[in-house]
Amino acid sequence: MAVRWLEDVRADDIDSVGGKGASLGELTDAGLPVPPGFVVTAGTYRSFIEDANIDDELFDAVEVDPEDSGALADAEAAAKDIILNTELPEHIRENILSSYDDLDDGQASVAVRSSATAEDLPDASFAGQQETFLNVTREDLVDRVKRCWASLFTQRAIYYREEQGFEHRDVDIAVVVQKMVDAEKSGVMFTSHPSTGAHEAIIEAAWGLGEAVVSGSVSPDNYHVDRDTGTVEEVSVADKKVMCVRDPETGETVEREVPEEKREQRVLSDEEILDLVAIGERVEDHYGEPQDVEWAMTDGDIYMLQSRPITTIDEDTEMTENGDTGDELVHGLGASPGIASGPARVVTKLDQLDKVGEGDIIVTKMTTPDMVPAMKRGAGIITDEGGMTSHAAIVSRELGCPAVVGATNATDVLQDDQIITLDGDRGTVTEGRTQEESERNPIEEARPTTPVKPMTATEVKVNVSIPEAAERAAATGADGVGLLRTEHMILSTNKTPERYIADHGEDAYVDELVSGVREVAEEFYPRPVRVRTLDAPTDEFRQLEGGSDEPHEHNPMLGYRGIRRSLDRPEVFKHELEAFKELYEMGYDNVEIMFPLVNDADDVRQARELMTEVGLDTEKRTWGAMIETPAAALSVGELAAEGIDFASFGTNDLTQYTLAVDRNNGNVADRFDELHPAVLDLIETAIETCREHDVATSICGQAGSKPEMVNFLVETGISSISANIDAVRDVQHEVKRVEQRLILDSVRD
Ligand code: PEP
Ligand code: MG
Repeated sequence: MAVRWLEDVRADDIDSVGGKGASLGELTDAGLPVPPGFVVTAGTYRSFIEDANIDDELFDAVEVDPEDSGALADAEAAAKDIILNTELPEHIRENILSSYDDLDDGQASVAVRSSATAEDLPDASFAGQQETFLNVTREDLVDRVKRCWASLFTQRAIYYREEQGFEHRDVDIAVVVQKMVDAEKSGVMFTSHPSTGAHEAIIEAAWGLGEAVVSGSVSPDNYHVDRDTGTVEEVSVADKKVMCVRDPETGETVEREVPEEKREQRVLSDEEILDLVAIGERVEDHYGEPQDVEWAMTDGDIYMLQSRPITTIDEDTEMTENGDTGDELVHGLGASPGIASGPARVVTKLDQLDKVGEGDIIVTKMTTPDMVPAMKRGAGIITDEGGMTSHAAIVSRELGCPAVVGATNATDVLQDDQIITLDGDRGTVTEGRTQEESERNPIEEARPTTPVKPMTATEVKVNVSIPEAAERAAATGADGVGLLRTEHMILSTNKTPERYIADHGEDAYVDELVSGVREVAEEFYPRPVRVRTLDAPTDEFRQLEGGSDEPHEHNPMLGYRGIRRSLDRPEVFKHELEAFKELYEMGYDNVEIMFPLVNDADDVRQARELMTEVGLDTEKRTWGAMIETPAAALSVGELAAEGIDFASFGTNDLTQYTLAVDRNNGNVADRFDELHPAVLDLIETAIETCREHDVATSICGQAGSKPEMVNFLVETGISSISANIDAVRDVQHEVKRVEQRLILDSVRD
């Protein structure tokens, strides 16, 4: 048999049905309400490739050098091609389709999800076995099953197995096919408190299908239930702007605005909450440990869609007296949203990074690219220095890790092992642990998201500074990357470009850039990715190997950086341009080139000439300039005449240069105002000029994430807005609101 019904599956069938299949089988067996379904077993995948005799061809195709990015891309394409274009043996096709027909008389719309079997792979998401298709019909079912199989051979999965020394041959994959629940309401439930393990159930609920809650595109209602007394203790009703529903015409999952009267209406009644908790308790009893459960409700019936153990409970949790957090210890800028609690790890030297473990809070003067691996492990970040555009702030936001920056004396006041809570919205750091769960909980991290977004005429893009954040950035549903900073790719080698080239050669330098950019371009393809050439000030380069050769500058922000340095050192700059050429040759035609800190047409002309010198076709490729100085804003007409396709406002710099406020100087931080009339005036004038010259306009500074700025820019006629990862969703909605208002106004006039 090619398939096994969920009711016949148990936990020890994991090799055949994968983790997801086994868990759903267990829940079904325990009499819990699980939507009916079956699993296309791992054995079926195996017999497909063996019977069709494609196994050797397939495994040969993916046996590549993992460091050769072009070969990896080819391997993924080849594997997909082989799997999708090989006919499924008739008996397997029959078996899958007749099982489907037995589900709801062949009328069902089903969810098709891959179910990882590879026990040897510690992180199945890295193995690529995460494909999910919703609302699949009979017609598409076999194709979707094959696409789940093909997900074993994404570039990342191939790379991961090659790196870890796993054989592609040894890995199997199962596929769960389950009747879709057309949920009226849905959400997640922790059967016990996710950090303390207390006997308290926490439920998040929103209207429609669960994707909106899981992807974070809606703020759900939140309910707390004391399981000992069976009482609903806390109810917080959110303003739920959007919901995911099935489009009755196309059958696809789409995001819709919640009808006005339901937006602030409570999703679950007390009775429904208690019914849900009762089922949650049965799940917890069945597994013998607290669970994190995805649930859905339709016509008053509750369904369990997924259950997994909660891994975040800290046995040693010590709450402060009343369970709330204690006194404020330090205060800074809330730079990356979310709340995190854990032991402080004060890092004053790089060799102390090893002491940072999962769930710890890093406390340091200022983060550097070397710290990124530790930042990924940490639950939160606190720095003494820095503002909203500092390395710590930018990287934390991209990692989805709460952060407080510019807390002045955090490294003195906070002690190693001290349990603290930081609030990345308010900028506070308090004693003790909070009861509120951190935003960075495994629910959000582990689940694949379905990007659904409001349609807007103004494009909404996302900023990326570390290639590792590409997947998270792409999952926002952004229209592309409005700014990919390349500094991290070079600074993380811990060498200046000049030293890197001297030590490893020019080709290695080009490869370093190609592989960093490629990671993002691949993730977003075919959405455009605007890549900025190098722009690091000399004080940042000085900290690296080779940094002693950097010039000493009194004010590096006004100094040797961006296009000025590039044009002054064309022999180094040309290697950056060669990297673009290589990317285009590899097929990444979604890459665009952007030059930082230009002042005038002369800067642009020289850059364009160098592009031509390395063989880049400036007519064919999309390229442009950042508008970061008043000079550039005022001469954008001349820049247009040099052939730029776009101009992008770097408001971090444009603000500091317009107001003479050093963006890194805490003494004048309260004067740093991107909405200052002088800054807005420059932007408005430049947008008008660009519109006359048919040059696209964009913003990629931090201010693009602020609603007031978004309002101003959409009204002024900007073509696209690029926001931080965590702000993309809000910006999409804000843009839509402003656009609708403008349309209404024009009709009314
Ligand atoms: C800017 O100046 O607004 C910008 C986006 O560039 P950076 O912050 O990297 O200087
Ligand atoms: Mg800048």
